[in-house]
Amino acid sequence: MYIQDQLEEIRSAIAAAATRAGRTADSITLLAVSKTFPVSDIMQAYADGQRIFGENRLQEAMEKMPQLPRDCEWHLIGPLQRNKVRKALEQGFALIQAVDSLKLASAISRIAGELGKTVRILLEVNIDGESSKHGFTPAQLETEWETLTALPGLDIRGLMCIPAPVENPEEARPAFAALRHLAEQLRKRGPLPLPELSMGMSHDFSVAVEEGATIVRVGSAIFGKREYR
Ligand SMILES: *Cc1c(COP(=O)(O)O)cnc(C)c1O
Repeated sequence: MYIQDQLEEIRSAIAAAATRAGRTADSITLLAVSKTFPVSDIMQAYADGQRIFGENRLQEAMEKMPQLPRDCEWHLIGPLQRNKVRKALEQGFALIQAVDSLKLASAISRIAGELGKTVRILLEVNIDGESSKHGFTPAQLETEWETLTALPGLDIRGLMCIPAPVENPEEARPAFAALRHLAEQLRKRGPLPLPELSMGMSHDFSVAVEEGATIVRVGSAIFGKREYR
């Protein structure tokens, strides 16, 4: 079965990269990015033991999530509009990965308060200065850190990045290293332990693991080629 074979291969590659970096494979979470793929494909991954899935569009996630077994864990990895925050929080994602501005973090904090929830998030960093990209610049994050960490109702678990696509996965290494360094700086400032670094996709997850990724977001390498969106 294609999906199960791919999953096995990726798990081995993650374990190998972890070993090269002196880490253990269980310190890395494989997030299966199921956007654009049907529930039947997700069920194949589920049958092979995969439980953690990522979707980048709220609407699509809301359609799929009720069709999958309850023990799946879902991450929202795409941009979230402020007027959709309430819907997203009610949906019960385990992690909202792409919180890309103080305004969005504040909106999540406020609605988390109204719903009596604590919401796990990652802060998205525009680590390589791609002006077209979402995310805090490292400088913004440093400036807004006190404000962000004081927001109630948020459990800021770490950082994520989506560097510009590169031909050779090695070219992504500096961006991954930069995200790790930034997290180290912010940990020193406190007060958060920031355990998670979400970085690396199908093409470059091995390099990301070598540079400290704790979550790799892998779509097409598991499920096959998708229509771009
Ligand atoms: C689509 C997507 C991925 C997965 O990309 P692949 O190259 O298919 O592995 C990872 N992260 C985000 C934010 C995405 O939107």
